[in-house]
Amino acid sequence: MRSYEGYIFDLDGTIYLGETLLPGARELIEALRASGKRTIFLSNNPTKSPQDYADKLTRLGIPTSIDDVINTVVATVEWLQKNASGKKIFAIAESPLIDAIKGAGFEITEDPEQIDIVIASFDRDFHWRKFQIAFDALWYYKRATLIATNPDQFCPMPGGRGEVDTGPVIAALEACTGVKCEANVGKPNKLMIDLVMQKSNLSVKDCVMVGDRLYTDIAMGHAAGMDSALVFTGETTPEILAGASDSDRPTYALNNIYELISAIS
Ligand SMILES: [Mg+2]
Repeated sequence: MRSYEGYIFDLDGTIYLGETLLPGARELIEALRASGKRTIFLSNNPTKSPQDYADKLTRLGIPTSIDDVINTVVATVEWLQKNASGKKIFAIAESPLIDAIKGAGFEITEDPEQIDIVIASFDRDFHWRKFQIAFDALWYYKRATLIATNPDQFCPMPGGRGEVDTGPVIAALEACTGVKCEANVGKPNKLMIDLVMQKSNLSVKDCVMVGDRLYTDIAMGHAAGMDSALVFTGETTPEILAGASDSDRPTYALNNIYELISAIS
């Protein structure tokens, strides 16, 4: 294993599970920072703002500034600014994402005749009224485009449990409308890595993407042309990795992130 200038970490299943840091996470981050390495945290979870994540990491013992966190709240706003200027938005989403979309100057509407973009997201208040509004905009008025914050089926939780995530919301909307989701903003889309590269003076070749999922974290590394490290502390088991095709494999496979310490120089 070689050393890198930038270490980009997934959070759930990589740095922590629920409210508990995974073994060696704090020690590794401290050692990387002491060696002058940049540590950046990415999450596909749009139910919290970057400040919420910075506060959580700091509370758990990894002091972190908002500048070192990017999640799908940031990436979704970035995507809308690039691709949907002036469009009217309906987001099946929790308040951090909705507030960020409004804050960027976009109009949010619940009128299906006005909606240009339906955003499927991780929404623990996804109920029939929202479902019907999205259905009317996508199927009846045939005017809206469907996009999603992230493709994850569930978010890993302590004890091997999971919390239902955005994937099933996308599937429900696609199933009832026949409309395909046109864009996924989160991992494996490399948009968040592009944002990290824009905000830092790092280059793709000087960074490694570290995460617990092949189809989001590791796939994003591949999409960006970045080395990757898979950890077995979240969703992926050695058995799942053994069944993966060569093109889906990470550069490194680790029992936990602390194993990255062997290559700090
Ligand atoms: Mg994860």
